[in-house]
This record gives sequence, C-alpha cells and structure tokens, in this order.
Amino acid sequence: MKNIRFIWLAVSVCVLSCVFTYMVTNLFLSNTKSQPINAKIKTEDDLYKSELILTENYQKCGHTISDSTLGTVSYSSIDNLTQKYPGYKITAGEGEKIVLTSDTDSYCPNHFCAVLNQNEIIITRLCDNKTVTIIKTNSLSLSSQEKKLLTEGLTLHSAEALTSFIEDFTS
Ligand SMILES: [Zn+2]
Repeated sequence: MKNIRFIWLAVSVCVLSCVFTYMVTNLFLSNTKSQPINAKIKTEDDLYKSELILTENYQKCGHTISDSTLGTVSYSSIDNLTQKYPGYKITAGEGEKIVLTSDTDSYCPNHFCAVLNQNEIIITRLCDNKTVTIIKTNSLSLSSQEKKLLTEGLTLHSAEALTSFIEDFTS
C-alpha cells in the first residue's frame, strides 16, 4: 500500500510540474508572439545610396536651378525616395547620382522689381515679394523718365542687373 501511495505522489508531482512548465512556456511564447522574430530586419546594406540633386524648373522665366549640396540619400525603393520629395519626379540618373525635378509656376529667385515710393526705391524679389533692399533717394534728383519707369515698377531680370541698378542709384 505504501508503494502505491508513493507512486501516486510521484505521478501527481510529475503531472503538476508538466502542467506548470506548459503554462510558463505558453505565457512566455504569447508574450513574444507579437514580435516578428523571423521577419527580416532592414539593415543599412538593403538601402540604395545615391548623391541627390534637386532641380527646379521655373516656368515663368524658363530658368533651371539645381541644388547639389544635399549630399547622399538612402532609400529602399524609388517610390520611397519620391515620397520624401513630393512634387518631384526622377529625370536622370540611377545608382550613384539621381536627379529629382519639380516644375514651379513662378519666376526663379533671380528676378526683381524696383518701385519708387516717395523718397525710397523698394526692391522686391518677384517669386516671393520679399523686400531685398531699400534705396534712399531724392525723387527730385530723378529724371522724369526714371520717375515714370520706377513708379510703374522696373523689372530686373538677373542678379547682375540688380547689382548694377543699386550701383547706379547709390553712387
Ligand atoms: Zn529666372
């Protein structure tokens, strides 16, 4: 009889420990289930790397300005890259260099307008109407032709034209 009791005890302990182990294992597995253990983690090696050049096509003046100071970009696909630069499309390059181009319905930043307002000539940039510089002037010293032109607004179509205009009215 003693032997049978002992066997029962041993079997019970065995079953209980099995159940306990099963429960603990299950708990552990369900905790880690949400993590994609077998999912491939994207490493640096999976990304493309290219030198990025952003180009703006300014429709109103036909000028194109490229920015090649952006350096190298990493991307997993072409779609991934273009999503980062909305409005741009790939126009050249693959591999080492990639050119993204956007069409802009305005003048490029090299166009200015000079307007006479009492004793000041206010020069603004056409693309964003930002004041670039204000020249103090005596309107009496201006010829009637200059006055007429500057009252209507004189457009300067390059940075060089702006520089020489400022020199004319400040020297
Ligand atoms: Zn332009």
